[in-house]
Amino acid sequence: LIEKLHGNKKREDLFKNTKVIAVGSGKGGVGKSTVAANLAVTLAKIGYKVGLIDADILGYSIPQILGIRGVKPVVPEKGLMLPIEKNGVKVISMGNLVEEEQALIWRGPILGRVLQQFFNDVYWGELDYMLIDLPPGTGDAPLSLMQQVPEAEILIITTPQVTAADVAKRLGIMASKTDSKIIGIVENMSYFICDNCGEKHYIFGKGEGEELSEDLDTKLLGKIPLMTEIRKDSDKGRPVVLDNDEVFKSYKNIVDNLIK
Ligand code: ADP
Repeated sequence: LIEKLHGNKKREDLFKNTKVIAVGSGKGGVGKSTVAANLAVTLAKIGYKVGLIDADILGYSIPQILGIRGVKPVVPEKGLMLPIEKNGVKVISMGNLVEEEQALIWRGPILGRVLQQFFNDVYWGELDYMLIDLPPGTGDAPLSLMQQVPEAEILIITTPQVTAADVAKRLGIMASKTDSKIIGIVENMSYFICDNCGEKHYIFGKGEGEELSEDLDTKLLGKIPLMTEIRKDSDKGRPVVLDNDEVFKSYKNIVDNLIK
């Protein structure tokens, strides 16, 4: 049945009703994977059919964030591999296919093929959204992945820090050179709300997300606060949007702006 449904169809046909969004960042550590995972879970919570490809093949962290470390996808005797399902999201990550640290020595050409295989050799079924967590930065790996999925629109994650926004801008310029459309910007770790005084503190600065969106002629889709709970929940393998209504609202706002 799986082969019949999917086996001889082209990717264009399979994903013709799917919005493909590649989540990128100018550098690591800005929360790209955390945002990709929570955005995927938010979309699923709202009722969309969502797939998530962890294309950060050497630095994968999606299995940890979603709580699926050590889970192996089902590979039927005949037909395609089935994605892992968690919190309503269909996921595939190199972290679920190899033993820990095994993928570390892989380089360019193999990495390129992996994304194609994640797209074509996995039975995704019908999806409204396919999110791709790109490797960080503006190097060969994210560039070649962006070129391989020309239909993907790029969602740029940055923090409000000038240095982060500068490299995010470079990613945006790279995206426009490969003819990838930029769908918008999410500013992560935007502010910290003090438990004692209740005030917002702009630890990494203020206004860079707005400036970046103007520079790249795209939308600032939303801001996510810096919160201990976000980090803790990722470490626990339970995305924060499942339990924290405030953070869910911030993500829902991003989804509303995406659809607008
Ligand atoms: P990247 O994918 O950009 O390298 P990660 O998503 O792995 O970044 O996030 C880096 C670290 O920051 C992780 O420990 C994560 O839990 C934490 N983190 C991400 N976003 C937030 C946030 N809004 N508040 C607090 N911690 C965060």
